[in-house]
Amino acid sequence: MSDSLDYTFQTRLLHNSNKYDPATGAVSVPIQHASTFHQSDVDHFGKYDYARSLNPTREVLEETIAQLEEGTRGFAFSSGMAAISTAFLLLSQGDHAILPDDVYGGTFRMVTEVLSRFGIDHTFVDMTDINAVRQAIRPNTKLIYIETPSNPLLKVADIRALSSLAKNIGAFTFVDNTFLTPALQKPLSLGADVVLHSATKFLSGHSDVVAGLAVTNDEELGNRLGFLQNSFGAILGVQDAWLILRGLKTLHVRLEQSVKSAKQIANFLQEHSLIKHVYYPGLSSHPGYEIQSSQANSPGAVLSFELGNEVDLRSFLEQLQLPVFAVSLGAVESILSYPAKMSHAAMPKHEREKRGISDSLLRLSVGLENPEDLMKDLDKALFASKKVFA
Ligand code: PLP
Repeated sequence: MSDSLDYTFQTRLLHNSNKYDPATGAVSVPIQHASTFHQSDVDHFGKYDYARSLNPTREVLEETIAQLEEGTRGFAFSSGMAAISTAFLLLSQGDHAILPDDVYGGTFRMVTEVLSRFGIDHTFVDMTDINAVRQAIRPNTKLIYIETPSNPLLKVADIRALSSLAKNIGAFTFVDNTFLTPALQKPLSLGADVVLHSATKFLSGHSDVVAGLAVTNDEELGNRLGFLQNSFGAILGVQDAWLILRGLKTLHVRLEQSVKSAKQIANFLQEHSLIKHVYYPGLSSHPGYEIQSSQANSPGAVLSFELGNEVDLRSFLEQLQLPVFAVSLGAVESILSYPAKMSHAAMPKHEREKRGISDSLLRLSVGLENPEDLMKDLDKALFASKKVFA
């Protein structure tokens, strides 16, 4: 079933490869559990032979995400880290990668503690500073890895400029698009080679599946990623593929509401006397505001904030009633995380501090609650957690 780029993204979420099953007309993709497929000809195998290589349910998700990211090949993995790690296998011993200094903690761990053992080197830089990226380039640099907005400081990297820099030196550009999804930002159209997702987050949207996706628009890279997916084998199971396909149908409406609320909450926190700083690329005071507006449809639904010195963090977390206090983001319920002990726990304290990830920093992923209720909850918890100085 072909995808029509004539329709808006909102419509294409419903009218694409997962619109109905061509065999039965079922409007929900059938879950095909078979791990293997009968072959009726010894010389010519059918399209499906073994489910690690290709499975009809996973295939629909892979085609759908490729269409939504405006790429040509999509791949589904058992987690965001499986997608990211597999994509890194495009590199070889002796290669060098440049990554953002506040990259997701799991990616930091994989690059520093796993890839380094295989002779793949790295440099962390402030990706908002193109000169710093230029200076980090070595003759063996084969990858510029971007996460924008970054996690948890919501720093904005210029995808167009960085992709063009990478192309000039013959390196790949990968973009972790977890925070915005193709609903809000399409890195391939800005020059990136591979888009990566923790589909655990907004794409599935209901905190009930762990999954990863990769998309490219380059035929050779697509073939190589397909080979690596099959070789490494960290594929997504069919039930989970189905859950993401279901979640995708409401991606637009979920994000529309969450972004609207996030903007309100960011403004509210910025004005609050007990908040030291708000990190949100939708605030005109954010240093990445202009670039964000030029490369994405919206600033997204995740923001971080630093509590004022007079607020007791533990008490604040105890007082809050609405957001779930948990690892993760991008769900129907608002999720509050503590990067120092959650997403960035894999990063040593001195590295975190160097990057501005302080012990009073919290990250809020705004869900679908009424924003007035969320603001009331935050306000009450902030005032109830004021330290009493003797
Ligand atoms: N990338 C980002 C930006 C993330 O926030 C996460 C998880 O929090 C990942 C990648 C890893 O994804 P997963 O937890 O699905 O392996």
